Amino acid sequence: MELQIENEIRRDYRTGKFAIMAPNRGKRPEDFSVSKEVVTSDVSKCPFEYGKEYMSKEIMHVGDPWKIRVIENKFPELMSTIPLMFSKGNFKKISGYGYNEVVVDSPDHNTPFELLDDSQLKLWLDTVIEREISLYDRNYIKYVLIFKNSGESAGESLSHPHTQIMAWPVIIGTIKRELRLARKYKQEKGKCLYEDVLDEERVRLLYEDNYFIAIAPFASRFAGESMILPKRHVNFFADLNENEKFDLVKTLKLILATNRKIFGNYSYNFAFKELKNYPEFHAHIDIYPRLTIEAGVELGNDVFVNQLTPEDYSKKFRSVLSLT
Ligand SMILES: [Zn+2]
Ligand SMILES: [Zn+2]
Repeated sequence: MELQIENEIRRDYRTGKFAIMAPNRGKRPEDFSVSKEVVTSDVSKCPFEYGKEYMSKEIMHVGDPWKIRVIENKFPELMSTIPLMFSKGNFKKISGYGYNEVVVDSPDHNTPFELLDDSQLKLWLDTVIEREISLYDRNYIKYVLIFKNSGESAGESLSHPHTQIMAWPVIIGTIKRELRLARKYKQEKGKCLYEDVLDEERVRLLYEDNYFIAIAPFASRFAGESMILPKRHVNFFADLNENEKFDLVKTLKLILATNRKIFGNYSYNFAFKELKNYPEFHAHIDIYPRLTIEAGVELGNDVFVNQLTPEDYSKKFRSVLSLT
């Protein structure tokens, strides 16, 4: 028997945003599986291959021949050559100052990120952290966002596994909402919000290791959404020790790979949620499978309809995991 839940509008303790749990269409986790084949781009045209290094402006690489490479984004949203300017009023704006970098996760075009071996993924994490530290040192940079678009439905434009880094001159958007709520909680209750909810979130446990825990959050907006968080309070992943970093890549890999067993060749995004200069924030990684399309409720009212409750997803996840 699937867990029966009547439709509910839930508030996300992290963002204050709402999501409607609507499991009433009778869909089971496997009904969200994507059967279509992944369209892999033509390797001969891929700019991330060995021998094509001249096609991009390199920031750094590790290994010889390189095992991981960081390059400038050819189509940046924010640019360091633009002076930082703010203007107020009805048409408030900020000039597009900042940095966009791309991490080529490995030289291997065809192996998905979550199927790379542990040592490669550890190298990936170390590289990403090194870039973050460097970008936070640049003038006016207040926030560095690490994220991945994997698969066509997640907005990926090149199928060779890669990660994006975006350095911002302002803290805006979801991270700002999350920071505000974490601070407010700390001020009012004297405790860390993320640690305080953990006991109850364990009902929706996906996986737990020595240093990290993964859960399906209470008010998940996406079918199969998950959150990975360190058990120890850290606001910046660079502050993790070596054992914790190994545990983090292992947990991330396990979540993404197990999702692949449940959802097939699914597209997903993930984002690091961390803030270097705000010790009251508890760092985490949010993973969003892209199995459904945002429609009128989502765009019109910023409320997401989720047809797979996090309870049903975590149950399915744990049963798939126990079989492997
Ligand atoms: Zn490639
Ligand atoms: Zn904490």
